[in-house]
Amino acid sequence: HAIPLRRALFSVSDKTDLVSFARFLVEHGVELLSTGGSARALADAGLPVIEVADYTGSPEMLDGRVKTLHPRIHGGILGIRDNPEHQRAMEQHAIPPIDLVVVNLYPFEATVARGADFATCVENIDIGGPSLIRGAAKNHAFVTVVTDPEDYAKVMDDMRANNGATTLDLRRRLAAAAYARCGAYDGAISRWFQEQTGEENPRHIVFAGRLRQSLRYGENPHQKAGFYVHGLSRPGVANARQVQGKELSYNNINDTDAAFELVCEFNEPAVAIIKHANPCGVARGETVLDAYTKALACDPVSAFGGIVALNRRLDRAAAEAITGIFTEVVIAPDADDEALAVFAAKKNLRLLLTGVVADTTTPELTIRSVAGGFLVQDRDAADLLSADLRVVTKRAPTEREMADMLFAFKVCKHVKSNAIVYVREGCTVGIGAGQMSRVDSARIASWKSQEAAQAAGAAEPATKGSVVASDAFFPFADGLLAAVEAGATAVIQPGGSVRDDEVIKAADEAGLAMVFTGLRHFRH
Ligand code: 5GP
Repeated sequence: HAIPLRRALFSVSDKTDLVSFARFLVEHGVELLSTGGSARALADAGLPVIEVADYTGSPEMLDGRVKTLHPRIHGGILGIRDNPEHQRAMEQHAIPPIDLVVVNLYPFEATVARGADFATCVENIDIGGPSLIRGAAKNHAFVTVVTDPEDYAKVMDDMRANNGATTLDLRRRLAAAAYARCGAYDGAISRWFQEQTGEENPRHIVFAGRLRQSLRYGENPHQKAGFYVHGLSRPGVANARQVQGKELSYNNINDTDAAFELVCEFNEPAVAIIKHANPCGVARGETVLDAYTKALACDPVSAFGGIVALNRRLDRAAAEAITGIFTEVVIAPDADDEALAVFAAKKNLRLLLTGVVADTTTPELTIRSVAGGFLVQDRDAADLLSADLRVVTKRAPTEREMADMLFAFKVCKHVKSNAIVYVREGCTVGIGAGQMSRVDSARIASWKSQEAAQAAGAAEPATKGSVVASDAFFPFADGLLAAVEAGATAVIQPGGSVRDDEVIKAADEAGLAMVFTGLRHFRH
C-alpha cells in the first residue's frame, strides 16, 4: 500500500516551509499544481509549477471564492485508482490522479483574533480548501493529505524510507489530522457566528481549538496533554503574551486562568495569589503593591510557589515584592519597564501580559469532561449588586461590612465548594476551600487565620471583626456559629435553606448582620 507520488496540489495560506517541501518533491519527480498565491511563491523560488487555472481551463473567480472547485481537481483527488469504472471515467474526462494535497486554510481564527470586521471574517471562511482536504482524507487509501507545515517532515521521511512513496499508516494518520483541522475550523466559525448573534448556545458547541502548545505532560507526569485556544478574543491566559520564564505547564495554565479570572472581578487595584486553583489570598488596595502585601498576609505559607494575578499594570514596587518569595507565574494586563527589569533577573519566573483585563460578565462557555462525554455550560458570569441583596437580620450591615461582603462573595465564586471566605477591609483573612462539609470549610478558614496571626505575632486572628461569605446556603446553624466563633460580624450567603429561620435566629442572637443574595456560586 505504499503509493508513489507523481502529482501534488498546493494551496496554502501559510507559506511556512512551502518552498523547501516543494523542492524536495520536485527532486523526487513530483509534478506541482498550485493555486495562484502559492504558485507565485513556488515560481519565485525557481520551481516548475502549473497553475490550477491553466490546468482546469477555468480561471480563479469571485474574489477567490472559486479556485479549485472543478471536476479535474476533485476527480483527480477522489477517484478510486483500482476501480475500473472510476478509471474509465477519469480517462474519459481527462482527469489525471492527484496523489498529494497540501492545503492549509484561510486564517479565519487569526482574522477574528485581530479584531477584523464582520465582512472580512466572512471572506476568510475557506470553502475550497476544506473540500480539498476532506476529499483527499476520504481517499487516503491512495492520496496523502497535509494540512500543517509541521507535517511536511513526516511526509519527506516516509518518502525517503519508501523510495518516493508514502505508507498507508502515514496517510491514515494524516487523514485523522485533516478532519481534526476541518472540525476545529468549522467549530471556530460556529463559535464566532454565535458570538456575533450574542447567543452562545451550549447545545451548538463544537470542540474548536488550535493547538497552541504541546505540553510536556498533564496534571501528572504520566499524562499527555495539549493547550488549545479557540481563537476568540477574551483576555486571559490563552491569549496572553509570555514575556519571560520557563514554559507553562498544564497546572500553571489552569491556575493562572483561575488567578486572572478572579482578579478581573474588581474595579480597584487588586491582587490574587492562587495555589491549586484556589486563592490563598486576595486583596484590593490603593496600589498593586498595597494589594499584593495584603493578599500575601492572608496565608504567606501557602503563597510560596503560587501564581499571582494583578488587574493593573505591574510596577517596580510590586515586582520587587513579588520576587521576594518564590513565585511560579505572574499575570497582569501590562508591566512597566522598571518592573520588567526586576523580573529579568529571575529567569525562570514566568510573566504573562494580557493587554487588558477581562470583562467577567461577558458570556462564554465552559467545558468539563466526564467519562464518555462532556458537560457544557455558561460560565458563572453573574454580577451581584448591592440592590440584589436582602437583609434578613434585625441588624443591618454597616457600609464597611457591606463593601467587604460584596468583595467576599466575589472571591467565593472563585473558591472550590464548599467555600467560606472571611474578609476584613478589602482583604481575605481566611479562606476555606473544597471541603465536603460547609462547617469544616468555616473551621479551616478560621484556623488558618489563627495560624497566620500566630506567625505574624498578632494578638488575635484577623477574622475578628471580619465579614464572612458562603458560596451556598448554610444548611444548619453550625456553619454560621463557627463564623461567629471566629469573630465575624456579618454574613453574606445565598439563603434558600429549609432551615433559614434557624440560621437567621442564630445570627440575630449573636448580633450579626446577614444578607441573602439569592444567587449561588458553586464551583465544583
Ligand atoms: P493562494 O494563496 O495559493 O492563492 O490560495 C491558497 C488558499 O486558497 C488556501 O488557503 C486554500 O485553502 C484556499 N482555496 C483553495 N481553493 C479554494 C476555493 O475554491 N475557494 C476558496 N474560497 N478557497 C480556496
